[in-house]
Amino acid sequence: MTELRDDMTPFEAVTWYFHQVADRIGLDDQTRAVLASTYREIRVQIPLRRDNGTVETLFGYRVQHNGARGPYKGGVRYHPHADLDEVRALAALMTWKTALVEVPFGGAKGGITVDPSHLSAAELERMTRRFMAQVSYIVGVNRDIMAPDMNTNAQTMAWMMDAYGQRSGHSPGIVTGKPVALGGSLGREAATGRGVVMVLDEAVRDAGKRPEDLTMAIQGFGNVGSWTARLAAEQGYKIVAVSDVEGGVHNGGGFDIEKLLAHQRDTGSVVGTGEALGNDELLESDVDILVPAALGGVIREANADRIKARMIVEAANHPVTPLADQILAEKGVTILPDILANAGGVTVSYFEWTQNIQQFQWEERRVNDELGKHMRSAYGQVRNYAQANETDLRQAAFSIAVDRVAEAAHLRGYV
Ligand code: GLU
Repeated sequence: MTELRDDMTPFEAVTWYFHQVADRIGLDDQTRAVLASTYREIRVQIPLRRDNGTVETLFGYRVQHNGARGPYKGGVRYHPHADLDEVRALAALMTWKTALVEVPFGGAKGGITVDPSHLSAAELERMTRRFMAQVSYIVGVNRDIMAPDMNTNAQTMAWMMDAYGQRSGHSPGIVTGKPVALGGSLGREAATGRGVVMVLDEAVRDAGKRPEDLTMAIQGFGNVGSWTARLAAEQGYKIVAVSDVEGGVHNGGGFDIEKLLAHQRDTGSVVGTGEALGNDELLESDVDILVPAALGGVIREANADRIKARMIVEAANHPVTPLADQILAEKGVTILPDILANAGGVTVSYFEWTQNIQQFQWEERRVNDELGKHMRSAYGQVRNYAQANETDLRQAAFSIAVDRVAEAAHLRGYV
């Protein structure tokens, strides 16, 4: 097992959590070797013709981590720091996430190393279509299904679906998180944030607290952060700090989320709606609940000790490094881990995929009700496991997930 360091790469960190749990549940070495590594990884070249006629050579990745429980599933991110290692880590997290919330998928992730804020809509479309064409040999409605992630959205999925359909015929189930007009699911856009708040509500109730008495800081105001803010405010939580890539803002009286969203729509950022705050400062806010909903690795050895929140809800993937995780555990901070807290997105992706296969649209109420069943059941299982085995919630979540994937791998005869 790798030694614990704060500069571990994302995949080293996720693998570290895996081995910690594999030790705890006594997983045999052969199964461990299968589950600790990825099934398939591809890197594709994406020559992108810019609007000015020049060609920029970009690189994209798709990593399929484990398919024992069903087709590979996971989003695609466009980010300057997206690389093979990060995509690997995120693919592994998808394997554990889908197992934990009991949706019949494996884990995968994709990414293109690019800063999409520098691209026009036409350039984004060309890049997206080229990426889908390059990876189309390894994806499929029953093979590998993509979805939005950081800096990708319903429009990105529409282009991907169209590009795949040109080759293989109309296949709405090839991507999830599509526009509703193209076979997307009602409730998918809000699903990750809704799942975050559902899990948080359960944890708050278990702690004997009430949302009205709790303050919250949210790092990131993209799809996940903004829906979390909106739905948490509806439940009564007081959102006192939020941030996006431009910076953060603080308002001790609590933000009006609709106003924040309107300001963001008009100016492109939340900055200017309250007292200015740095993104690092936001993490150290004096609040009850901290919701990292942006990048990975933001809570590290260097700042973990300064975190004041008593509860961290990991709306982002891998926002806490393993060393920071230990520091926070010693401080008695409760962490609702990523594979539980942000699993609402892939859960409704599963509902979208089933609707596509059945060619039948569910009402939004049904989507949200079914989402609630999966999220609350997963939360209950994780809490009970943690209590029964005296572990933290992350170890409990990983233990349940690893056990399920190992069982499927054994039944298939992988090991
Ligand atoms: N990108 C999201 C995640 O990290 C959603 C994946 C999906 O819906 O397949 O969970």
